[in-house]
Amino acid sequence: MAVTALYVHVPFCAQKCRYCDFDSRSFAPCDLSAALDAYFGQLYARLDAFGKAGALDQIRTVYVGGGTPSLAGERLVELARRICTWCAPVEFTCEANPESLTAELPTALAKAGVTRVSLGVQTLDNTELAAIGRIHDADRALAAIATVKNAGLDVSCDLMCGLPGQTAASWKRTLDGVLAAAPHHVSVYPLTLEEGTPLYRMACRDESLEPDEDFQAACMDVARDCLTAAGYHPYEVASYALVGHECAHNIAYWTGQGYLGLGRSAAGMLDAEDFDCLAGLFPGVSSRGDAHRVRLVQRDDAATAFDAEYLSRREAAAEDLMLACRMTHGVGSDLLARAANIIPAVDLASACDRALGLGLATWVPDDVEGHVGRVTSRDVIAGRARARLAPTHLGWLDGNVLFELFWGLA
Ligand code: SF4
Repeated sequence: MAVTALYVHVPFCAQKCRYCDFDSRSFAPCDLSAALDAYFGQLYARLDAFGKAGALDQIRTVYVGGGTPSLAGERLVELARRICTWCAPVEFTCEANPESLTAELPTALAKAGVTRVSLGVQTLDNTELAAIGRIHDADRALAAIATVKNAGLDVSCDLMCGLPGQTAASWKRTLDGVLAAAPHHVSVYPLTLEEGTPLYRMACRDESLEPDEDFQAACMDVARDCLTAAGYHPYEVASYALVGHECAHNIAYWTGQGYLGLGRSAAGMLDAEDFDCLAGLFPGVSSRGDAHRVRLVQRDDAATAFDAEYLSRREAAAEDLMLACRMTHGVGSDLLARAANIIPAVDLASACDRALGLGLATWVPDDVEGHVGRVTSRDVIAGRARARLAPTHLGWLDGNVLFELFWGLA
């Protein structure tokens, strides 16, 4: 069993944000406690089933996301304790929102084995927070960052740009405010309007609420400048970290490592051999001889129903190339050489050449003495030159075009 990453989903929030289409339910406070008790009881049972099957033996990273895991309070601490009886993760992240992160929770989580808290800050402008339906304010967010740091945990802050009413000046104030609080990691996302959300419906009536893509691109640029100047290096499309504080769990996703999903809506991705070992834990999902990889999504609380997607060797190779394009490092020559065993070299070279031609990527030699000017896609793919195909500034801003080029190889 080679699975090294575990994701746990906690689909509860105090109130639904206006832009959110994640799986999360909100309850009246009097019903929330019973709903959380029932849900966590099922999580613990499922966790034990994974553990007894040996599926957690090699887990190195754990990520509890949501929803709002911090809403679960002591239940979350107990979950962390139980996970750490089955494995010894080197990185253990819990997502939290400022309004439900009590002064005591980070310390209790740290004692239970958690190493990192990812906070939904989004913006430090109270008007913008209200416009997107968040229920915390800027002071609460800054206090939460300090509480997490005081507990000795790493803290990551999620920020969003393109919010209703946001300006270049307010975005800069948010960045400056967050940098002054000195988190270890910052993620920056452009707001997207998802069909069916309240904000989507509001924007249908008032187009001033629609995110302006040029403004968002400018915000992403400003964020990159401010964050890199402050010592945070951009290692993925949306992610910045102080050296040594990159999110190992997310890197596992972006480098094609297998992961287990636990909880309703949680996704897992297993190599076919690992899936065959664990098939009994996924009722109703059968093995398929031609599948190289299986992606599974738990559909209910009790883990009795799953959606399964089967990827062929070629689809898995294309997916790995596409995911590598998310990383600043880009597509390494080893990954390209592996892909060339599955995807015809001529197709692979053509996708690389197209990315180069569109200005979305560039060859960066593996060694400082390398002569990038002489590198060709065919040479790298054939192993005659060592270089990585790294996204350019345009490829970073226009990632979807780059991702599509490589996913198209599937
Ligand atoms: S806190 Fe996160 S998961 Fe919950 S409603 Fe808001 S955006 Fe969605």
